[in-house]
Amino acid sequence: MDVVVGMKEERAGRLEGRTAIVTGSTYGIGEAIAKILAGEGAISIVTGRSEDEGGRVVEEIRSGGGAAEYYSLDVTSEKRVEEVARAVYEGYGRIDILVNNAGIGGPSKPTHEYTRREWERVFDVNVTGAFLCTKHVIPYMKRGGGGNIVYISSIYGIVGSQDNPAYHATKAANRIMAKTGALIYAKDNIRVNSVHPGFIWTPMVEEFLIEQSKELGVPLEDLKRELGARHPIGHLGEPEDIGYGVLYLVSDEAKFVTGSELIIDGGYTSR
Ligand code: NAP
Repeated sequence: MDVVVGMKEERAGRLEGRTAIVTGSTYGIGEAIAKILAGEGAISIVTGRSEDEGGRVVEEIRSGGGAAEYYSLDVTSEKRVEEVARAVYEGYGRIDILVNNAGIGGPSKPTHEYTRREWERVFDVNVTGAFLCTKHVIPYMKRGGGGNIVYISSIYGIVGSQDNPAYHATKAANRIMAKTGALIYAKDNIRVNSVHPGFIWTPMVEEFLIEQSKELGVPLEDLKRELGARHPIGHLGEPEDIGYGVLYLVSDEAKFVTGSELIIDGGYTSR
């Protein structure tokens, strides 16, 4: 084996030249995924509704030497999903990776208190949005000879809890969408997997705890500690913990991995 002393060995990134659309990558878990994929040579297509945040993520990737571009995208708009997929394909000649990450929490209350409108809104973003992105990206992946799709589900796509029935139902749907996709598109060399994060410190979880803190009159820091303690590992996860899992799934190291569910939860679902 050659040993290079005092010099960092130059190597091609694990995703060199591949184009990766990450939905909901203007902040939170999606931002970390877009940055980690770009760090391995992918062109990260940063998407979401907040232009300022999208621009910031792109700037940060570029200033670190990576490649990225921002497209404004609400995943519930089929017209816009179609436009973005076409623009990315025309601009880069291929779409290799889609990470269906965009998601919302929805109200935390029992099923019988949900309005139909509230229920449908969570499904619109978390399920229909992921469906639309998959639908419009698949033809381009087929043209390119293959691809990778990852659904960001949740521990609540695997186990239940009493707080958020619509969200949990959507995350269970994401899990099976990945498995059916894996079966349908295996012949097209497209792998499809799901990732199941435990609680990760992002704006979504922060907002949820701020709400709880007001409702219960308990300091935010105490709630954060209690939530962390629900994970056997003793604390909350970080967005990068999920980003590295996605990196593995979309890289060639995972060439035999499809229809699988990667749980990244500090042991939460091991009980
Ligand atoms: P977050 O901090 O709220 O970020 C959500 C992202 O989704 C943002 O970039 C947001 O961008 C985007 N988004 C929301 N609605 C959208 C829409 N209609 N169209 C396009 N983009 C939209 O949430 P997060 O915690 O990072 O969660 C990301 C994913 O991980 C979600 O699917 C969530 O269910 C899942 N997850 C999170 C946790 C956790 O503990 N954080 C645990 C398990 C699973 P814009 O506002 O710019 O549109």
